Amino acid sequence: MRLDGQRESDNVDDVRDASGQGGGFGGGGGRGGLGGLIGGRLGLGGVAVALVASYFLGINPLTVLSLLNGGGPVDGGLGQGAPTEVQRPSPATAQANDPGARFVRQVLATTEDVWQTQFQAHGSQYAHPRLTLFRGSTATACGKGEAAMGPFYCPADHRIYIDLGFHDTLRDRLGAPGDFAQAYVIAHEVGHHVQNLQGTSEKLDRLRGRVSEAQYNAASVRLELQADCYAGIWAHDTQQAKGLMESGDLEEALNAASQIGDDTLQRETQGRVVPESFTHGTSAQRMRWFKRGFETGDMAQCDTFNTRQL
Ligand SMILES: [Zn+2]
Repeated sequence: MRLDGQRESDNVDDVRDASGQGGGFGGGGGRGGLGGLIGGRLGLGGVAVALVASYFLGINPLTVLSLLNGGGPVDGGLGQGAPTEVQRPSPATAQANDPGARFVRQVLATTEDVWQTQFQAHGSQYAHPRLTLFRGSTATACGKGEAAMGPFYCPADHRIYIDLGFHDTLRDRLGAPGDFAQAYVIAHEVGHHVQNLQGTSEKLDRLRGRVSEAQYNAASVRLELQADCYAGIWAHDTQQAKGLMESGDLEEALNAASQIGDDTLQRETQGRVVPESFTHGTSAQRMRWFKRGFETGDMAQCDTFNTRQL
């Protein structure tokens, strides 16, 4: 991805120095940390990946945490405990200029441009999300965020949370290398923000407790595939407007979408596939919906909730 000279977003808060250390694989700058944490506890590398995988790209934190938070009282049933005070960076915090942070600010800026234009085209205003770069763990309006969850979006505070150690996990453990794979992950989380603005996340919230777990998971898959489709729209529009994609970028995104499909992850981590437990969609579905957004650039094509065949 060609980002030289691209604008950096002002909506990134860097709390890496202030956030809790050692809570996850990002603690020491990535590689090995995850194995250290989970391996020590559970003794299985595969479980480590499963854990990241099950939370991967935010839906579990999203649904789990937003459910805890979704307007009602926090019930703490998922071990998140009492609501925590949200950490805010001091305004004086200097912007770190390491390449990882700059990359995130630039990619976020491209999503801002894309969604601003998309919302305007539909006659509405895009409220920008903010993004928190943390290390280890951090307080969020959705409870405690841990690096091991992978990047996630918290609907309650309209924020994306990322520990940059995740980029190493993506490359080394999940078999999804490349800057465009990383950008896809950010664009997917921004997709959840778009869904939040559209009220879609809230609709899913309301299903909770009223439907079976399998039905709820099925709805979660539709939410996730729509976020993948929105990530595809981002890739389409940013390419149209700026031509930032290089050869191999599309393949990097599709490979990432494939590697984090529920069937692929389950096969790798538990050796068997349990479709009723899918929350994100299969590899083929994730690739298909990213591609649909990428090929059409049309939000109407991303209506996963009214599609029979995903
Ligand atoms: Zn997601």
